[in-house]
Amino acid sequence: MTCRLCGAPDPRRFFARGKGYLDCPQCGYVGLEPTLFPRRDDECARYLLHKNDSADIGYRNFLETFVKALPKIAPGARVLDFGSGPVPALSDMLRARGFIVTSYDPFFAPGKAWRRHLFDLIVAHEVAEHLRFPGRSLGALAGRLSIGGWLALRTRFAPDSDEEFVRWWYREDSTHVGFFRARSFVFLAGKLGLELEELSAPDRVVLRKPRKLPGGVTQGEGAACARA
Ligand SMILES: [Zn+2]
Repeated sequence: MTCRLCGAPDPRRFFARGKGYLDCPQCGYVGLEPTLFPRRDDECARYLLHKNDSADIGYRNFLETFVKALPKIAPGARVLDFGSGPVPALSDMLRARGFIVTSYDPFFAPGKAWRRHLFDLIVAHEVAEHLRFPGRSLGALAGRLSIGGWLALRTRFAPDSDEEFVRWWYREDSTHVGFFRARSFVFLAGKLGLELEELSAPDRVVLRKPRKLPGGVTQGEGAACARA
């Protein structure tokens, strides 16, 4: 068994109220045992229960707090809403701000076209905890960032102690299959070659594709030098 975020071998196995988890000593990711992943039709049915959320004022306010804290980008910027859900409320909010938004969701807005484009901002709002293979998925998103582009995530950071984790409400959703500690994102940024711009408890992370390569060369300049 390996960690599904970083690939480290032999994560620590422990149980919380009968459910098995794998706690990675290297990156701090806590993954639900794969045998406990929900069936795809059950997963989809549970997401459909969220359909009315977009009309709920509390939920809209929750989304607004995420949007307001996003990196400042100009109208016309290209944005990917990854995991946009049954009602793409966040995509709509971002479009209303003048961005060119692509929505992707494996159940509700499938299609691989986003994999051929680069984005100035990628948002994954309450999505990372649903990813079965987060290392692979987040790596793919990092590969779709334009130079200087941002990856903004919202997912609740997991508590450090087993005692707190057992009592933690966030793990009880059957579609939440893995959890990140704050330090998981420090590790992830290094692994993906991104800069960690923001890490705010309880749930906000912003990563950025650097403009400078190691050694201080601004991206784009290297090619010009090579041609000279
Ligand atoms: Zn790991």
